[in-house]
Amino acid sequence: MPAIGFEIKRKCKVCGEVFIAKTLDSLYCSPKCSKVAWKRKRDAQRKEEKLTQLALHIPDIREYLSVREAVAMFGVERTTLYRLIKNGTVPAINVGKRLTRIKRSALEAMFLTRTESNAEKTRPVPKKYSMEPGDCYTIGEICNRYHVDDSTVWSHIRKYSIPSRQIGNFVYVPKEEIDNLYKSEVK
Ligand SMILES: [Zn+2]
Repeated sequence: MPAIGFEIKRKCKVCGEVFIAKTLDSLYCSPKCSKVAWKRKRDAQRKEEKLTQLALHIPDIREYLSVREAVAMFGVERTTLYRLIKNGTVPAINVGKRLTRIKRSALEAMFLTRTESNAEKTRPVPKKYSMEPGDCYTIGEICNRYHVDDSTVWSHIRKYSIPSRQIGNFVYVPKEEIDNLYKSEVK
């Protein structure tokens, strides 16, 4: 990723410090924060794998689930689950101290299972753009507005698959996408 010719200020996604991003892909202020982010991601993946394994081993015929199994199977947060049990939305029984059993069919009616919801998440959502010239910049306008040269703009359009439309001598690109790409993330 080549360095960009202008400054983008961003908030580090780990520590919240504002920093000057060296490339459009920079999300963290320092190698230390990148490492923290990487570790968090790895831990989340490991946790996810464990839950998936647990969910796979729950027999189909079992009608009551433990809290841990329900979390594994439906990807619902533990605290959410306890709240739903407490307010009576999800029927559950106490079979002993700290042994809650939750009615599976009630959960099935309310939540997708973890694998179903993951499939939903990965299905790409087609984004609708207005390609009307009024909602677009020309390449020249982008260069002027963001002080980048046109070959850089084109390389970003290709890299991020930003739609473009040619009318006469001008190429139009949705303002929204370009602004999202180049404007600073700091509010
Ligand atoms: Zn940081």
